[in-house]
Amino acid sequence: MGGTEQKFVNEAFDTNWIAPLGPNVNGFENDLREYLGDDDYVAALSSGTAAIHLALQLLGVTTGDEVLCQSFTFSASANPIMYQGATPIFIDSEPETWNMSPELLEIAIKDRIEKYKKPKAIIAVHLYGMPYKANEINAIAKRYDIPVVEDSAEALGSTYFNQKCGTLADLGIISFNGNKIITTSGGGALVTKNIKLKEKAVFLATQARDDAPHYEHSSVGHNYRMSNVLAGIGRGQMEVIDDRVKARRQNFEFYKNNLAQNPVIEFLEEPQGFFSNRWITCIKTPSFEFREGLRLALQDDDIESRPLWKPMHMQPVFKDYLAFTNGVSETLFNNGLCLPSGSNLTQDDLNRVLNIISKTLKS
Ligand SMILES: *Cc1c(COP(=O)(O)O)cnc(C)c1O
Repeated sequence: MGGTEQKFVNEAFDTNWIAPLGPNVNGFENDLREYLGDDDYVAALSSGTAAIHLALQLLGVTTGDEVLCQSFTFSASANPIMYQGATPIFIDSEPETWNMSPELLEIAIKDRIEKYKKPKAIIAVHLYGMPYKANEINAIAKRYDIPVVEDSAEALGSTYFNQKCGTLADLGIISFNGNKIITTSGGGALVTKNIKLKEKAVFLATQARDDAPHYEHSSVGHNYRMSNVLAGIGRGQMEVIDDRVKARRQNFEFYKNNLAQNPVIEFLEEPQGFFSNRWITCIKTPSFEFREGLRLALQDDDIESRPLWKPMHMQPVFKDYLAFTNGVSETLFNNGLCLPSGSNLTQDDLNRVLNIISKTLKS
C-alpha cells in the first residue's frame, strides 16, 4: 500500500457508503480517467475478468461466434469467451514483444471467413506489461471490421507511442487484482471512448435493472460493480502508480545490467516507441533444463520464480480448439522464467537473487 488508501477506506465507513456504488467508485473512475486521458470513460468493476466478460457481451458475442484470442496469456483472457458460449481460436505470438502475431492474426481471419464466418472479436494482450503491436493489430482489425478487446490487465502504466495502454482499442480492460502493479485486492475496469458503452457496462454490471419503480428486467445482468470500500483502496493506489512503475522498471534494469553480458540470458527489449511498466521481469534461457536449473537453485534458497504463462492452446481445457501457432509461445513457456519482481524488493533482496543466478550460470 502507498499510505493514503486507509483514509479513503475510512471515509467509506464514516459516511456508511458500504455498497457497490458511492463517492469512492466515482472518484476512482475519475482518477483513472485523468490518468488514461480525458476522452476515455471508465467503469470500475469487480475484476478484470468481469471487464472482459462485459466487453464481449457489449460486442454481442454469443453462441456460435468465434473469438480470436492471444494464446500466450493468463486463462482469464480466454475464459469469458466460454461464458458467452462462443468458441475461442488461439493466435500465437511474435518474438519481438511476445504478444499476438499480426501475421498469424490475418491468416486466422482469412481462414475463418473462408471456412466458417467472420470472427466476432479479437482479444489482444499486453503481456507482462509489454505493449502488443497495436498499429499492426488495429490495421488488420479495421480492414476486416472486427472489434478489438485490449487486455491491459498487466499493463497499467505502459504506453505505446505515448498513448496509455488500455486506451488503444475499441474496448480496454484493466485489472486491480492483488498481484497487479496497483491493486484494490480484487477489482477491474472497462475503458471506452463511447459514453453509451460505459453506461451500458454499468447497467449490465448492476443486474440490468430497467428504469421503473419496481424491479424490471429486460436483459440478463451481472453483479460486477466495484465495492465503494475497495474503490477507496484504488484511489490511494492511484497516487503511487508512477512510483510503482519506476520501481518495477528499476528491477528490470538491475537484472539486465548484471546479467545481459551473459550471452545465454535474453531479456525482452522495448521496440522503438514501446514503454513497458515491467510488471514482471522475464528472461529467456537456452533450454528447459537450463531454466529448471535456475528455478530450482532459487527455490533451494526459498526464492520463488516461475515459468512464463503456459499458452492457452497447450492447456488441457482449451487443447481441442483451433490454434494458429508458430512455436514462439511454446518455446517461451519451456525456456522462460519470471524473476522476483515486486515493487517492494530491497537492494538486498535483488542482490540475493542475482548472486544465486550468477553462481548457477557459472556452474
Ligand atoms: C490478471 C489478468 C486478468 C484478469 O484480471 P482479474 O482482475 O484477476 O480478474 C486478465 N488477463 C490477464 C492477462 C491478467 O494477467
